[in-house]
Amino acid sequence: MNAFDSVLHVDLEGKRARYECVRPDCPQPRVGPVTVLRDGLDTVRAFIADIRSQHPAQYHGETTK
Ligand SMILES: [Zn+2]
Repeated sequence: MNAFDSVLHVDLEGKRARYECVRPDCPQPRVGPVTVLRDGLDTVRAFIADIRSQHPAQYHGETTK
């Protein structure tokens, strides 16, 4: 996996996160943001932990594991 294919942004000490995919053929180049206030801490933590493997698997048919 090319490290520059995507960027995970985590702001405000992990209370807000969003994901950007820069692949030109991406159908969902921006995911989120998810926030602790709106979505809950568990959701934000899961997003941060999973999005970098979940997004390529869901939208690009790839796995990083
Ligand atoms: Zn993508």
